[in-house]
Amino acid sequence: MSPGLSGDGTAERAAARGEMVQHQLEERGIDDPKVLAAMAKVPRHRFVDHALWTRAYGDHALPIGAGQTISQPFMVAIMTEALELSGGEKILEIGTGSGYQTAVLAEFTPRLFSIERSPELARAAAKALADLGYSNVILKTGDGSLGWREHAPFDRILVTAGAPDVPVTLFEQLVEGGRLVVPVGDREVQKLDVIVKRDGKPKMQQLVDCAFVPLVGEEGWRKG
Ligand code: SAM
Repeated sequence: MSPGLSGDGTAERAAARGEMVQHQLEERGIDDPKVLAAMAKVPRHRFVDHALWTRAYGDHALPIGAGQTISQPFMVAIMTEALELSGGEKILEIGTGSGYQTAVLAEFTPRLFSIERSPELARAAAKALADLGYSNVILKTGDGSLGWREHAPFDRILVTAGAPDVPVTLFEQLVEGGRLVVPVGDREVQKLDVIVKRDGKPKMQQLVDCAFVPLVGEEGWRKG
C-alpha cells in the first residue's frame, strides 16, 4: 500500500512538499491527516516533464501533454478528502492523466482501478507509477464515463475531468453507501459535486468551484 519511494528526489523537494502541504492545503482547510500525509509523501515532480520539476510544488495545474493538465495540489487534496477514505476501499478513478492523483489514492488502498482516454497519457502514467513502485493499480485506456462494468461495484468513484451532468452509469456502479466525486458544470467552470448513494438514490452536496478539462465520452462531452 505504501511502496518505497527511494530515489524520488532531494531533501529540497521533500521540503517543497512540506511547504505545499502547509500553505496550500492545511491553511485552506484540508485537515484529514491521512490526506495530508499522502500529499506530503507522493513525489509530484515525477509525474511532470523534467523541465517542469522546479514548478511541481507550485499552487497551480501544469501541462502534461495531449492538451491535458495535472490538477492543482489543492484540488487533488480536496477531491481525495471528499472521498472520505478510511483505507482499503475499492476505488475507480476516471482520468488517470499523469498518474499523480492515482498515486495519492494508492496510498489508501490496494484495490484501485483507473481509466484514461488518451493512450499517450495512459502509457506515461503507467511508467511513472511503475517507476515509483505503485504496482497495485489496474489501468485501462478507454472511455471512463461508462465506468468499468467488469469490476463494479465500487466503494468510491472519482472523476478528474468536468462532466456536463452526473454520469448515470457511474452512479449505478457505486455500492449502497458509496461516494462519487465529480466536477459538474459547463466546459469552462464546474462545481465539485459529492454524491452519496442512499437507498439507491443520490444525495448531493456541492463543495467548491473548479475548472477542469472536459470529460469526453458517451456520458460526458461528445467532443474534446
Ligand atoms: N488526475 C490527473 C492527474 O493527477 O494528473 C489529472 C487529470 S486531467 C485534469 C483529466 C484527464 O481526464 C485527462 O488526462 C483526460 O485525457 C482524461 N479524460 C477525459 N475524458 C475522459 C474519459 N471519458 N475517460 C477517461 N479519461 C478521460
